[in-house]
Amino acid sequence: MIRQFELVERVKSYDPGTDEDALNRAYVFAMKAHGAQTRASGDPYFSHPLEVAGILTDLKLDASTIITALLHDVVEDTETSVEDIEQVFGPQIGRLVDGVTKLGRLELQSEETRYAENFRKLLLAMSEDIRVLLVKLADRLHNMQTLHHIPAEEKRRRIARETMDIYAPLAERIGMQGLKDELEDLAFAELNPDGREAVIERLDFLKGQEGDLPSKIVEELRGKLRAHGLPRAEVLGRIKRPYSIWRKMQRKNVAFEQLSDIMAFRVVVNDLAECYQALGILHAVYPVVPGRFKDYISTPKPNGYKSIHTAVIGPERQRIEIQIRTREMHEVAEFGVAAHWQYKQDAQNVDGRQYRWVRELLDILEHASSPEEFLEHTKLEMFQDQVFCFTPKGAVIALPRGASPVDFAYAVHSEVGDTCVGAKVNGRIVQLRTELHNGDQVEIITSKAQTPSPDWEQFVVTGKAKARVRRFVRMKEREQYGELGRQMLQKAFRQENYDLTEKALEGVLKRYKVETVADLYVLVGKGHHSGREVLEAVFPGIKDRGKVRKIIPIARRRKSKANDTPVPITGLIPGMAVHYAHCCHPLPGDRIVGIVTTGKGVTIHTIDCETLENFQATPERWVDVAWDVDEKDNVFTGRLHLVVANEPGSLGSLSTVIGKNLGNISNLKITHRSQDFFEMLIDVQVVDAKHLSNIIAALRTMPEVTTVERARG
Ligand code: MN
Repeated sequence: MIRQFELVERVKSYDPGTDEDALNRAYVFAMKAHGAQTRASGDPYFSHPLEVAGILTDLKLDASTIITALLHDVVEDTETSVEDIEQVFGPQIGRLVDGVTKLGRLELQSEETRYAENFRKLLLAMSEDIRVLLVKLADRLHNMQTLHHIPAEEKRRRIARETMDIYAPLAERIGMQGLKDELEDLAFAELNPDGREAVIERLDFLKGQEGDLPSKIVEELRGKLRAHGLPRAEVLGRIKRPYSIWRKMQRKNVAFEQLSDIMAFRVVVNDLAECYQALGILHAVYPVVPGRFKDYISTPKPNGYKSIHTAVIGPERQRIEIQIRTREMHEVAEFGVAAHWQYKQDAQNVDGRQYRWVRELLDILEHASSPEEFLEHTKLEMFQDQVFCFTPKGAVIALPRGASPVDFAYAVHSEVGDTCVGAKVNGRIVQLRTELHNGDQVEIITSKAQTPSPDWEQFVVTGKAKARVRRFVRMKEREQYGELGRQMLQKAFRQENYDLTEKALEGVLKRYKVETVADLYVLVGKGHHSGREVLEAVFPGIKDRGKVRKIIPIARRRKSKANDTPVPITGLIPGMAVHYAHCCHPLPGDRIVGIVTTGKGVTIHTIDCETLENFQATPERWVDVAWDVDEKDNVFTGRLHLVVANEPGSLGSLSTVIGKNLGNISNLKITHRSQDFFEMLIDVQVVDAKHLSNIIAALRTMPEVTTVERARG
């Protein structure tokens, strides 16, 4: 175990001004908090956070990161809370530890790796401070290093799989090549021990045959560079790791014949000019392998990687790959954002913004130039505007910020979207318009009877959901206008004792510039032409007779003849071809009348609604309509106007009485309030007018209610 003073010394070696005191406190705090807990290996649990902190000192990270590493399992595994940590170490450390704890709770529950990319984005998005992610990666590295202590094979494999699919690519994404290689190789050892063993055996065999080839080549390369004017060039050579050899064998479908297939060499020089100088020397001394030259200095990789790559037939007549870079580029290639932080540290302290890593990562990306890199770039920028949610089975669904459960449902499947009736977020029932957040688990409740609601258009944000809802609404609207139009035509025809037949209408389609009878129904339903007008077009002879008849408002009309039935409306969906007026809130059982608005269909008012005064001058807009009494499932909203005594509990008893009578209060607005009285409007969901009358009667028996009546106009 690293001792307390050792850890502090390590940090001091690269950051002399570090907060020694805080480091010491964190060491003691974590040790005490974990107490007698042990790891699967039998070691004290505290050895784990300590090792994780040690890994991060190798990356030369700041005191806050090291402290976070020491404390990273304290909240999850002990009685300590984030608030406790905040109190002792301040809000910044509190936030970092909280971030690592939250990442720890996310596990890829699904075996399916196709969600891996989304999951990686989720982790990136949730680590608002990249130090959270660095601690998480170091945590994972130590867990992988000690994986063999876990007895259950299934668990070991799951962790290794997750490391391969999620964490190694994530390390690569933020440019930490060294960490990525180590994570991959450890996972490889668990997932495919035989494959790894075979690679190692072959390596040993070749080493026996060819000797220490890398060292010989390094010596010669160094000599050549010195002789040609680069005395301080550093040359590094190594055999690639088993996993990267294995993957190369798989990808290129080749076996490796000799060590040179799997060696990598690096030339590290002082500055940019020397990079190209070294390249010139190597190309002059050795034959160049064509097609292998890549200049990642002028065009860096999206994760910030810079180097020149080339291949030559080098010493010992071996074909070798060489990367040429400056020391700074080397650090960035090995440590990624962590190195970047070191170089920018001073500048950041000066301008007061200490940590802008994610921002900087994006800055690096802005210099990307190939289409591939650009794509990568935009994806990364986009996740700032995304939320990542889970299905109950653990699949990750990526959505734009502001997305609702309906967007989620459509992202899962169009069918699920079309039939969704409700949603649970993290186990609790929520409204469909609720905004989703990163990491939410969303369960969609569906019903075969459900269809997309026009209301959804108000809050869905994804293109797919918008398009589906709109298409459905348009189709349904057409259907509704068509149905209303057909009913209105039928009524007009019956008044003159004609039967409405499609055949009769076909003759006038051209005149209305439509192709089908259905189109004509829609025109009439929308109020562009009245039923009477179409009737006169079909039978021009009745025009004169028609003059005597006008559609007379229902209240003043004589009792209807058998063939003079009103247009039934209950089957029509409110909000499309038929609208219930907000002035009088008509209910089934009320006597009603419709007012046609061109392009909008019909608005239904109660016959005694004051608003109807406005339409006295335009009798042609009036339609005789009626409830279709068979409908039972619909719920309607009635509006009550009340004056209630202003005393304790009066509102409570009011809602109790309404509830007892099976009314559901959907809205309540206090319109006037004096010392003695409340005046208010209450919207109540009821089955019909009679239901509302019952509620009114019940309210009238209450001593605290002065007046109660339906709101009219
Ligand atoms: Mn841990």
